[in-house]
Amino acid sequence: MDFERYLKAGRIAAEVRESARKTYHVGSTLFEICESVEAHIRSMNGQPAFPVNTSLNEIAAHYTAEPNDATVVKEDDVLKIDIGVHIDGYIADTAVTVCYNPKYEALVKAAEAALGEAVRMARTNTKASDIGRTIEGTITKFGFRPIQNLSGHSLQQYTIHAGKSIPNIWTIGSSFRLLANEAYAIEPFVTTRDGQGAVHEGQTKNIFGITSRKPIKDKEADELLELIWGRYRSLPFAMRWLTDKYEEKELRRLIVVLTKKKNLHSYPILVEGYDKIVVQAEHTLIPAESTVNVITL
Ligand code: MN
Ligand code: MN
Repeated sequence: MDFERYLKAGRIAAEVRESARKTYHVGSTLFEICESVEAHIRSMNGQPAFPVNTSLNEIAAHYTAEPNDATVVKEDDVLKIDIGVHIDGYIADTAVTVCYNPKYEALVKAAEAALGEAVRMARTNTKASDIGRTIEGTITKFGFRPIQNLSGHSLQQYTIHAGKSIPNIWTIGSSFRLLANEAYAIEPFVTTRDGQGAVHEGQTKNIFGITSRKPIKDKEADELLELIWGRYRSLPFAMRWLTDKYEEKELRRLIVVLTKKKNLHSYPILVEGYDKIVVQAEHTLIPAESTVNVITL
């Protein structure tokens, strides 16, 4: 645990998130948004811990822009901007939902309120299941539904999902208590009352990560694998990040080869079960003995 580097990652992530919250995104492409948010992270001497997620409407998570993605944000869109920043692998993970049609404001308020309540109660020894109960209770009071199969998570150096889940609903059975000096992301996802309250994997896959560095004896593919390892280790990456060295068509071919050989895995987009709107809010925090440091505040 390197608290200073967590704090620095958190400060950068918070500033980049607030800047993204204030920006008017209608008319911009997802490519422009992703590239400018990531450039902002780098300009502050942080590194993106994963490709900025720009998931629209019923897509809850895991969409990042394709190379030259021409998808344009419209007036009625609900856009989740999920940002990860790392300093030497110490990760801050935070998200904001932006929308311009007032009919979605209550949904966003519900997610922010649920996150606020969860952060307020999180301490060393707080039970994760109690946080889930508070999140669900807050969202329900607003008349909406939590996404039950998405959750917060513990973080470790170079690992975004480090094994422990902080639920967004009240789960019975075994749980765990938050540890001092361990980092956790808490991230309520909210959908409307007529949503399923669950996500499933969609067809689109534009975020990848290394599973194995074992060479496959294909010169081009093995070179790409080593480039990815050198740049991103086991952290997620996007094709956009490799078009400085590769032509897009060749890059797609090599990624298919490496995925088939199980050197790479992909993260499919996650879509609301009944295609209803999803919103999200997220902070990263580190409990101490008697207080909590919300590093992305
Ligand atoms: Mn996130
Ligand atoms: Mn997260």
